[in-house]
Parts: sequence; C-alpha cells; structure tokens
Amino acid sequence: MSQSQHSKILILGSGAAGCTAAIYAARAALEPTVMRGLQPGGQLTITTDVENFPGFPEAVQGPWLMEQMEAQAAHVGTRFVDDLVVSCDLTRRPFTLHGDSGTVYTADALIIATGAEAKWLGLPSEQKYRGAGVSACATCDGFFFRGKQVAVVGGGNTAAEEALFLTHHAAKVTLIHRRNALKAEKILQQRVAAEPKISIIWDHAVDEIIGAGTPPAVTALKLRHVGTGTTRKIAVDGLFVAIGHKPNSAPFQGQIETDAEGYIKTRPGTSLTNIAGVFACGDVQDKIYRQAVTAAGSGCMAALDAEKYLSHQSAAAAAE
Ligand code: NDP
Repeated sequence: MSQSQHSKILILGSGAAGCTAAIYAARAALEPTVMRGLQPGGQLTITTDVENFPGFPEAVQGPWLMEQMEAQAAHVGTRFVDDLVVSCDLTRRPFTLHGDSGTVYTADALIIATGAEAKWLGLPSEQKYRGAGVSACATCDGFFFRGKQVAVVGGGNTAAEEALFLTHHAAKVTLIHRRNALKAEKILQQRVAAEPKISIIWDHAVDEIIGAGTPPAVTALKLRHVGTGTTRKIAVDGLFVAIGHKPNSAPFQGQIETDAEGYIKTRPGTSLTNIAGVFACGDVQDKIYRQAVTAAGSGCMAALDAEKYLSHQSAAAAAE
C-alpha cells in the first residue's frame, strides 16, 4: 500500500528557489516539506566557482553553496524528502502528488521550484568535457577563459548574448550556427555583427569536442558543413552550448498554464499561477534572468505569497 504524507506547504525542487522558499516558509511556522527532485541542489551543483552570489568576497563552490542553503532550511524546520514528482492532481484541494517512490503527497499549498536544464548537443565528447572546457553558462564560467579562444554554438538570443558576454573575457569568440542566419533579435544580431572579437561560422554543426592533457582540457572542435558534409577543425579552449533551456514542468503540463516553451506562467511581479494555492518560482517560470540570486529572490516571493494564501484560507474556514 502506498504511503501518504500531508504538508501545509510542499515545495518541489531543492535549488536556490526551493531552498529559499523553504527558509521563509519554515520561519513562518508552516513546516514545509521540500522534495529534492532529480538533481538535489539544482543547477548550482553542476557549476564550480560561484563568484556572483552576494555575501562571499571570494569564489565559493556551487555544491557547497547549495549544501549551506539546504542546511539553513533544515535548521529552521524544513523536512527534506528524496523523491521526484511523476504526476499530480491540482484540480482538487488538498493538492495530490505522486512521487516516484510510490509515496502520495498532499498539500494545502504547492510551490513549484523544479528549475530548468540547459539543452545539450548530446555528443559523447560533450559529456566528457563538461566542466573541463564545455559549459552552458557564460555568466558562470566565462571568467575562466580570459584571453583565450572560445566558441559558442547556437543561433538564438541566448547564443548571441553568451557570445557578447564572452567578449569581456575571451580574446576571440567564434559563433557556430547550423543555419545561415541568426534567429536572435535584430538588435542582438547588430551587436554581434559590430563586435570585432566575434566571428561567425555559418551552416556548421559541432560533431566532436576534442581535448587533451591531464586534467583534460578542450583544444579543438570538429565541425561539419550541414550542406556538403565536409568537416574541418578549429582550435578553441572552450565551448559554450547555447541552444536553449527547457523548464522542468512536464508533470504539470495540461494542469497549469504554461507558455509555448513550457515555462509556467506567473502573474507579473508575483509567484501566482493560474491555480489558487499553486505558486511557481525560479527557472521553471523564468526564461530571462536564470541566475541563482534571482531564483532565490523569487523563492522568497513564493513563500510569502503562499503564506498569505494559507492565512486567507484559515480566516475563511474560521468564519464559516
Ligand atoms: P532558442 O530556442 O530561441 O534558439 C536555440 C538556437 O539553438 C536556435 O538557433 C537553434 O537552431 C539552435 N539549436 C537548437 N538545437 C540545436 C542543436 N542540437 N545543434 C545546434 N544548434 C541548435 O533558444 P534561446 O535559448 O536562444 O532562447 C530561448 C527563449 O528565451 C527565446 O524565447 C528567447 O527569445 C528567450 N531569450 C530572451 C532573451 C532576451 O530577451 N534578452 C535572452 C535569452 C533568451 P535552429 O533555429 O536551427 O533550430
């Protein structure tokens, strides 16, 4: 028989958004439960040095930072469970969620902080050099390529912005796109075209990332012309994959309002979704900023919105 657990607030996801929501909810005596999800600690656990989270004069490690956030949330009274939502029913109160473990979770309020993940090319060599020259976050890792040669793959806004950002650090940035025109906004295209450090290789796909040494480091890319199939090599010290992100909103599809890309829609300036009592924060609802500090800020908003919702519910129940 499946086990059942009830929480006043159930928070899905244990990244910067989920942990911050938990800290605020626990301090409001709402005894939150955090479901850690597929990647406990979220995207920061796959980065190394974090230099842009306020409060630390020197770089801290992403996994360490997330351990501190979780410890802080646990210290103020959050319960953590290792599970992953596979399905849910958000049409009735309390909300019902089914975990991969078989446990059934019910909650009076739900905070969705399941994050997003970068899309990857899917090459075996990409997997091999991730964290050793291959990254999906120029803001996080661009600094480590000061004076070096880097490539960015992609043709949308993210690729254009990553390429422009990388010019602050790298000596040369090569943008590789599988078409002969960018789909990025015109203004970004103009900035890219005007930037002397950026050159573009059109109509090419990345076939392989080549590296050497101990510890391993990226040295070159093997590119293939998408029309002729001709291959060539270019020397680079790093590759930034900027082919889009996908929000982790699959278990809620069809129940909650999302945009065409699957990002959960929130009412501007709040964490409110189209379902009363369900709140969303962090990257699952943010396709623009995607920073740890903005995720944490929106986690705080979600906890405050959920607290307000629950107190209205109790006041309404008391008045009946
Ligand atoms: P997009 O989906 O807009 O673009 C992805 C790009 O990557 C496309 O050029 C696509 O090429 C290419 N691509 C996809 N898969 C592969 C692959 N396997 N190999 C090589 N190339 C590939 O993603 P973005 O992350 O750029 O943007 C996502 C959303 O976020 C958009 O709505 C965008 O407008 C928004 N955004 C807005 C910003 C802003 O307003 N400043 C900043 C960043 C993002 P193809 O066209 O051939 O499929």
